[in-house]
Amino acid sequence: MQSKVKINEIFKSIQGEGPYIGYNQLFIRFSKCNLNCVYCDTDFKSNLIEYSAIELADIVNKSENIHSVSLTGGEPLLEADFLKEFLPLTNKKIYLETNGTLYQNLEKIINYIDIISTDIKLNSSSKNGDLFELHNKFIETAVNAEKEIFIKIVFDEKITEEEIKKSVNSAEKYDIPIILQPKMDGECLKLKKDLIEKVYNKFLSEYKNVRLIPQTHKFLNIK
Ligand code: SF4
Repeated sequence: MQSKVKINEIFKSIQGEGPYIGYNQLFIRFSKCNLNCVYCDTDFKSNLIEYSAIELADIVNKSENIHSVSLTGGEPLLEADFLKEFLPLTNKKIYLETNGTLYQNLEKIINYIDIISTDIKLNSSSKNGDLFELHNKFIETAVNAEKEIFIKIVFDEKITEEEIKKSVNSAEKYDIPIILQPKMDGECLKLKKDLIEKVYNKFLSEYKNVRLIPQTHKFLNIK
C-alpha cells in the first residue's frame, strides 16, 4: 500500500523571499515541524488532507504556468520517505524550503531537488538554541551533491557578533549567498532602519555574498 502524507495546504502564489522573488510557484505546505521558532506564522491547525504520492503528483503535473514547486512547511524533510516516492513521479522543477537541520533526510531525496532555500536559525531571533552544527552538515550535504543552495537568515535587534561570525563561516566555505531578512511583526517591518543597515553592513564587512531582501509576500499580503 502506498504511504500517505498529511498536507496543510496546496496553493499557487508568488515566491516572496530570496533570489527567486516574484516567480509563480505551486506551494505544498507540509504539516509538521521539528523546530519551534517564536516568530513562526505557519498555521498547523488547519484541516489537514491526506494525499498519496500519486494523487499529489497528479496535482503537480497538471499545474500550468509555474516556475517550480515549492515544498514548504512546516519542515518538508520530516516526510523524506514520502518525498522519495512522490518526487520521481513529478515533472516540474522542485524548490525545497527547509529549516536546514535534517541533513540525513536531505540525503535521501537530494537527487530530486533542484533548488534549496535553507534557513540558518539564529537563537537570538528564533529561540531554538545553537543549530550551527546541524546547519553546517546540511549545507555540506547540499554542496557535495552539487545542488543550488542559498541561505536565509531572519534577524532582529538581538543578533550577536558570534552569530554573524558563525553564519559567515557556514556560507563562505562554499561561497553560498546569504539573504538577510529583518524580522517582521505580522505584516509590518518594525525594526529600525539604522539597526537593519548596521547588521547588513556588519555582514558585508565580513562577507561579500550577502543581500538584504525582506519578506515581500508580507508587504503584499499574499501567502
Ligand atoms: S522552522 Fe519554519 S515552520 Fe518550523 S517552527 Fe520555525 S518558522 Fe515555523
